[in-house]
Amino acid sequence: MRKKIVAGNWKMNKDLAETQALISDLKKSLPATDAEVKIAPTFTSLYAAFQALKDSPIEVVAQNMHQEANGAYTGEISASMIKSVGVNSVILGHSERRAYFGEDDALLAKKVDTAIENEMEVIFCFGEELDDRKSGNHFKLVESQLKNALFHLKADAWKNIILAYEPVWAIGTGETASPEQAQEMHEFIRKTIAENYNQDLADSISILYGGSVKPANAEEIFSKPDVDGGLIGGASLKAEDFIGIVKAI
Ligand code: PEP
Repeated sequence: MRKKIVAGNWKMNKDLAETQALISDLKKSLPATDAEVKIAPTFTSLYAAFQALKDSPIEVVAQNMHQEANGAYTGEISASMIKSVGVNSVILGHSERRAYFGEDDALLAKKVDTAIENEMEVIFCFGEELDDRKSGNHFKLVESQLKNALFHLKADAWKNIILAYEPVWAIGTGETASPEQAQEMHEFIRKTIAENYNQDLADSISILYGGSVKPANAEEIFSKPDVDGGLIGGASLKAEDFIGIVKAI
């Protein structure tokens, strides 16, 4: 059975003290759940977050990573640096990295390879812009994002991959894909993986939905058969909201 997952992407929010305060609130109110619960604080708080969550089932994830092992890449962070603070999981391909930092499929394929070589878990984000959806190009676009960044992987590497379908038009906009739109795309993604690998592998991959998930809409979205949880932005910054979403899974 594939894993259910709720992951919070804190983006460039929360300094060290705020990170510690939010973690403390999350620890206090985390319900018993079969789902994996993860948070992705900013780099400067990763070590403290990992230490604070050592005795908790909540896992810590990095928000980005450079593709090279080390070298003259001012301001960048490598896989081994992330691992050295206890963190073994990384978000790659977030639409904000693609839009504001020029990350394209070819670069993301390299980052994914680096993460896999370092035996890290990858939460790989992808999804169409509004224009793609309006023009009916969204399935083709999503298929090409997967093909270009992930389908070179050997089947075995997929045990480290979690997918996060995040339609760009629904991220931080308050506009959510309908549960039916999410299910339709998740089913398509699973079918595409089955065609390129096999059905067993496709059935084993957790596919999260991301885009304005809130306590009020989480349950309906998570009830869809191919939606295995959520990647949560804005609503992961308040313990009450994030826990509300965890309870919905
Ligand atoms: C995200 O950025 O991954 C995201 C889903 O954001 P939000 O929940 O705020 O739409």
